[in-house]
Amino acid sequence: MPRLVMKFGGTSVADLERITNAAKKVKQEAEQGFEVIVIVSAMSGKTNELVGWVDQTSTFYDAREYDAVVSSGENITAGLMALTLQEMGVMARSWQGWQVPLKTTSAHGAARIEEIPTHNLDEKFGEGMQVAVVAGFQGIGADGRITTLGRGGSDTTAVAFAAAFEAERCDIYTDVDGIYTTDPRIVAEASKLSKISYEEMLELASLGAKVLQTRSVELAMRYHVTLRVLSSFEDDISMAAGTLVCDEEEIMENNVVNGVAYSRDEAKMTLVSVADRPGIAAAIFGPLSEAGINVDMIVQNISEEGRTDMTFSCPTDQVARAEKALNGAKDSGEINFHGLVSDKYVSKVSVVGIGMRSHVGVAKQMFEALSREGVNIKVITTSEIKISVLVDRKYMELAVRALHDEFELEHAA
Ligand code: ADP
Ligand code: ASP
Ligand code: MG
Repeated sequence: MPRLVMKFGGTSVADLERITNAAKKVKQEAEQGFEVIVIVSAMSGKTNELVGWVDQTSTFYDAREYDAVVSSGENITAGLMALTLQEMGVMARSWQGWQVPLKTTSAHGAARIEEIPTHNLDEKFGEGMQVAVVAGFQGIGADGRITTLGRGGSDTTAVAFAAAFEAERCDIYTDVDGIYTTDPRIVAEASKLSKISYEEMLELASLGAKVLQTRSVELAMRYHVTLRVLSSFEDDISMAAGTLVCDEEEIMENNVVNGVAYSRDEAKMTLVSVADRPGIAAAIFGPLSEAGINVDMIVQNISEEGRTDMTFSCPTDQVARAEKALNGAKDSGEINFHGLVSDKYVSKVSVVGIGMRSHVGVAKQMFEALSREGVNIKVITTSEIKISVLVDRKYMELAVRALHDEFELEHAA
């Protein structure tokens, strides 16, 4: 029998009524003859609440216990979804990550999937089970304990199941009806794309568009999973609905810029006057990496009299840890700098498009558009298909709108 993976995000299972609504869609697909694997998130707001409880209980918490707590939201929705389906006459059973078992690394809080053996679910499908409901976001680590896959990780659970069970498709049901040229909550004129390439979606996700977890797009690309994003609040679930994430070759027309992404909570840190010598970058970024800081952009300024300034960006909530690591390295004599300046109120805004590979002038157009709005650019980075800038947080939405206008994305499709 063909297999289908259907993933429902937090807002799509926010209460019993919505779970019933989602279950109706599952029943519809099961009646089409699919063996369905349903991946559920926790009810919206639940994971935040659980994270808050952990934070209030323990400042430097044990990550194994963090996972024990924050994984629990998905257990509730998995059981409720199975019950709802049973009430509708569908043969359904729920599975927690460890029961499958979805095997992961032991990197608690940000574990990576290593293997999903299929025999347990296969056996149940063989006995007539129509739908397996699996709790998203969670697995079991090599240490035998519950792990979680990082925030938004249910998307990755869904794609990994689609790959392991060779599903025909992985449908991600959420609160928007597809992937837009930018976050439709910020720009009302954003337009829905009918298709987007894996590469562009990967960039958009890693640059902040949280509609899909980055790792899920990486997996879909690697295992050629047909991935679709669509709304759980609309009746149409035919292939005309939503946005398909697919190979570049399947898209006829490519816009130069296809999307604008933002990441609100970024920080810019500058080491003032460090010795400009071979090995200095390694001496700075070594301790940061050991402290688990996700360094993003890096700029080394012009050097004068053997000294230079080094600037980098990282998520705002990692600033305290970064400062501790750098001051520690200074105290132990590994590095020497005159000052450490942290700006915690910046955001990253990026434009993404495969067409940039063959078009010049996108950077100039982007910088001019920002300059017309009086938005100062603090740091710039580029890659083959994206340009990112760091701006003051108070200008973030203005910058996103200005760039969306500049590249005429309201007409994209
Ligand atoms: P879920 O709970 O279903 O996983 P998320 O909140 O994680 O949903 O992701 C959906 C949200 O992603 C949308 O509500 C939207 O605000 C946001 N989003 C950001 N960028 C985009 C984009 N380019 N297209 C669509 N949605 C986007
Ligand atoms: N419930 C988890 C979170 O909020 C996982 C997910 O929804 O994808 O991050
Ligand atoms: Mg999500």
